[in-house]
Amino acid sequence: MQPATQAWWFAVGRLLATALVGFVLGWLFGNVWIGLGVALALHLGWQLINLFRLEWWLRHRSFADPPDVGGVFGEIIAQIVRLHRRKRFHKQRFVQLMRQLQRSTAALPNGVVILNAQREIIWFNRMAARLLDLRRTADLGLRIENLLRSPQFARYLEIGDFASPIVIRTTRGDDQYLSLQMVPYGEGQQLLLVSDVSRQMRLEAMRKDFVANASHELRSPLTVISGYLETLSQDPALDRDLQGPVTEMRRQAERMTAIIRDLLELSRLEETDEMLGGEPIDIAPLLSMLRKDVVARPVHPRDIKIRIDSDAQLLGDQPEIHSAFSNLVDNAAKYTSAEGSIEMRWWVDDEGAHFSVADTGMGIPPEHIPRLTERFYRVDAGRSRSTGGSGLGLAIVKHVLQRHGAELEVQSTLGSGSRFICHFPLSRVQLARESRSEAV
Ligand code: ADP
Repeated sequence: MQPATQAWWFAVGRLLATALVGFVLGWLFGNVWIGLGVALALHLGWQLINLFRLEWWLRHRSFADPPDVGGVFGEIIAQIVRLHRRKRFHKQRFVQLMRQLQRSTAALPNGVVILNAQREIIWFNRMAARLLDLRRTADLGLRIENLLRSPQFARYLEIGDFASPIVIRTTRGDDQYLSLQMVPYGEGQQLLLVSDVSRQMRLEAMRKDFVANASHELRSPLTVISGYLETLSQDPALDRDLQGPVTEMRRQAERMTAIIRDLLELSRLEETDEMLGGEPIDIAPLLSMLRKDVVARPVHPRDIKIRIDSDAQLLGDQPEIHSAFSNLVDNAAKYTSAEGSIEMRWWVDDEGAHFSVADTGMGIPPEHIPRLTERFYRVDAGRSRSTGGSGLGLAIVKHVLQRHGAELEVQSTLGSGSRFICHFPLSRVQLARESRSEAV
């Protein structure tokens, strides 16, 4: 039997016993009713005293020292004490957890700012205060964009694509760069993660400078070597045994020249991440020029088609767009046999303008596709080297497209061919009607 039920039985038993004692005493003294009444009144009085003690104890919250009452009241007091202990235990655990959380976020090497749906600051840790110059109480409740005044950050918030962080230069003047990333969570709340990336940015700048300078310095001696090798290879008096090595040396010198040319091009593209404006580019003449370049190769795919489905112009930087498209077409020509075919296509739809180069060449295994645009990444060093590739072509394509707000998509099936598609946003399209009306 449970203690509560037991206490109730006990209480009922005591009431009956009191009534019985009253009855017997009343009978002995000649009035049963008076005896019964007095006994029940005493019982009720005793219960009232217990109730009073219980209420007094609850009101004064002296949980540590509960009144010593038995029966049902004792049971109620025991229940209250148990509930109270449980509540205190959970509260302590919660407070402990909160303290730990606060201590760990304060010790984080990165800044953390909690924002509400209106992007008002709710809380921030010590590092965020240091990096963003936030003041403990004064800045709470203020909108983050009012404190962090940067056009880049404002654009980042406006676009709302928080998949990757942005890097901004602070106004402190000591070449400080911060990486900022918004992380949405809960109902409209957001975390802003802040970290100091000045060191990485300085190293990156040094790396870029080094590559640009080294390429620049190598260009002149290489031009001299290539010149002499060309003269030597055309010399009829050249020893027969030397003809082969000289031709190979010329080929390798040409490859080095191509690598240096691409490195310099990449360095130039990397100088600034800014979006390019641009003039309208006619795609049809550009594609026929690229076709001629392919045909001029000593070995090229037999069938080179051009399909123009729109006479819209592309708004961009002509030399850069030429360089990107030419790299794609060049690759298609390099990695497709003489029996194969290439198709260049230009079209416009609701999403924007698209340029694709499809070939029936050797194709690319799927695991290599995500890494193709990395510098010097080659699917197979042998196949690229034998075609004179620098491994930098697709890195250049990616950079040029980025500067035009465009993206590169690669589709490929090993053994049956590849398709490289450049997707340009609608803002880069100038429809033919517009251009005509401008011309009038
Ligand atoms: P590369 O100058 O070596 O061609 P890229 O950056 O242009 O360098 O291309 C990277 C690699 O991607 C190449 O080495 C090649 O293996 C692969 N690749 C590029 N385009 C094609 C294509 N159309 N067909 C097959 N493989 C390709």
